[in-house]
Amino acid sequence: MKKARFSGDSTKNIHAGNKPEFPVGAINPPIYASSTFVFPDVTVGANRFAFKEKGTIYSRWGNPTVDALEEKLAAMEGAGGAIALASGMCAITSLFYHFLQQGSEVIVHTALYGGTFNFLANMIGKFGVRVHFVDFQDLARVEKLINKKTKLLYFETPTNPLMQVIDIKAVAELGRKYKIVTVLDNTFAPPPIQRPLKLGIDIVVHSLTKYINGHSDVIAGAIMGSQMQIDAIRKQTTFFLGGTMSPFTAFLVSRGMATLIARLDRHNYNAEKVVEFLDNHPKVETVYYPGLVTHKNHDIAASQMNGGYGGVLAFVLKGGYRAGRGLMEHVQMIRLAVSLGGVESLIEHPASMTHSEYSKKEREKAGIYDGLVRLAVGLEYAEDIVSDLRHALVMIK
Ligand SMILES: *Cc1c(COP(=O)(O)O)cnc(C)c1O
Repeated sequence: MKKARFSGDSTKNIHAGNKPEFPVGAINPPIYASSTFVFPDVTVGANRFAFKEKGTIYSRWGNPTVDALEEKLAAMEGAGGAIALASGMCAITSLFYHFLQQGSEVIVHTALYGGTFNFLANMIGKFGVRVHFVDFQDLARVEKLINKKTKLLYFETPTNPLMQVIDIKAVAELGRKYKIVTVLDNTFAPPPIQRPLKLGIDIVVHSLTKYINGHSDVIAGAIMGSQMQIDAIRKQTTFFLGGTMSPFTAFLVSRGMATLIARLDRHNYNAEKVVEFLDNHPKVETVYYPGLVTHKNHDIAASQMNGGYGGVLAFVLKGGYRAGRGLMEHVQMIRLAVSLGGVESLIEHPASMTHSEYSKKEREKAGIYDGLVRLAVGLEYAEDIVSDLRHALVMIK
């Protein structure tokens, strides 16, 4: 078969992993709805089980539709390999199960995706693992906590919902200095925005549910890293944990990826328009967006986010809790929902929704003020998003 060569992001996202098989020649990988696969003879069966020969066995260990997506995902992140899984949380928890054992320690940034935070704060402890939550914006504090038991440095950037920016290269260097594996959840900034592996990070995880699939119609996740790391994680961990991605999900994610670059361009453009509008609005106190020159770590963002700043932003309304809730009640086209990275613009009010179980004091300590609103800008006509916000802002007191 001809081996295609390509270097551009959009080309890779469209063509990598897709190998039409003749005589049918389907341009997309077929959906192999099969739990198990027939061995042509006993020798082949034995060889496949002994990893002496590549080939299908059973879909928890590999399915051609999912394999094709994994090739595309690895090409996208410039990784040696990828494992596609049933959810972003499955990818994340699989990594912790893989690298940690009784007595291990892990250092993580304070601002984490809610599911990741809950797993680390409330679950992994029962296996005898110690978790340190530290602000990665101050790496000297991280370094002080490193000891012989430290197995992982784990973080996200930009963070949710305050869009804090962490210096990826500096974390990678710290990891290398002490031979500790570094992991970055790159969900908010898929390539070409951020390329963590190029900056020295060992392993990248994604919730494919967000930008990469991009159509708010699947839950999916992935782990990317060197071929050696990926082979080890697959054989020692994900094969057994069982968070297998279904072939139909793989088909949808692959279809979403084909338009990722075109979509990201529009997310970036729309977010810039919305930020410009909010930043000049009298009822808005602060806007958090890494692309703003007034952002605390804009310089770091500018150096590591090379393909725009993405579609997520947050802002604080002057009227506090009432104004935050009020805005939710008055937007019309923008949907009131969590999640991000889909075609639709989504808005949420952390104080009354995602962070409502915390007290006002706890929330404020974490920077989640009552007037804080998170907006994931979609792909609608930019002026329609702005005018929906403009109208809702008029309506709030
Ligand atoms: C959504 C999300 C996750 C979890 O992914 P699921 O696909 O919902 O399991 C993890 N990290 C980040 C940053 C996310 O936004």
